[in-house]
Amino acid sequence: MTRTVPVSAPEAFHDPDPHARPAAMGIGGQSAIDLPAAEQAAADLLHALGVRTEGESLRDTPGRMARAYQELLSPRPFTLTTFPNSEHYDELVMVRDIPVRSLCEHHFLPFTGVAHVGYLPDDRILGLSKLARVVSHVAARPQVQERLTKQIADWLAEKLAPRGVGVVVEAEHSCMVLRGARASGSTTVTSTLLGCLRDDARSRQEFFALSRAAHRGRSGTGQLNP
Ligand SMILES: [Zn+2]
Repeated sequence: MTRTVPVSAPEAFHDPDPHARPAAMGIGGQSAIDLPAAEQAAADLLHALGVRTEGESLRDTPGRMARAYQELLSPRPFTLTTFPNSEHYDELVMVRDIPVRSLCEHHFLPFTGVAHVGYLPDDRILGLSKLARVVSHVAARPQVQERLTKQIADWLAEKLAPRGVGVVVEAEHSCMVLRGARASGSTTVTSTLLGCLRDDARSRQEFFALSRAAHRGRSGTGQLNP
């Protein structure tokens, strides 16, 4: 028997601090985004920054800016299907190098990288492509990398009730590379471990060996953002 849960909006995810993010950002999906208003605001921002948009090359820039942010803030709905673990597979299921693209909510500049997501199944398993869909779904909103990492893990824990979950995200933040510290080439690594991936040393080591990621301590998410 398969079990299917439609996932339409990020509200379906457990958000530890829903008030930490603005309400009018199109969080609930594309319909909440007022594209003409965003385009006008982008034009106002550019003018306030001393950028003239009258010329042919920049004339459509406010619209392109608005549509680019719309795309980054619009999660694509997907249907979650889980299956019974009829083979009683009890080893780590892991998908590595899942692309991550999100927006740093502090600077509204993108951060990009990869996620390594694994779980130790119990009664249910998940279509492998769904792990990538979960990552992109959670990323389509203003984020900090620590919360993004935890939301992926919490979501899997809630939907699959596995014996353990591990998530590592490695990302480069434009706000670190282009401004401030100008730390070109630096990567921020965050991890969240739940269940026996957190409590059992052998499982934990296997997960981190497979994720090839720097292990920044076993407790929860790292605090590596500027
Ligand atoms: Zn930032």
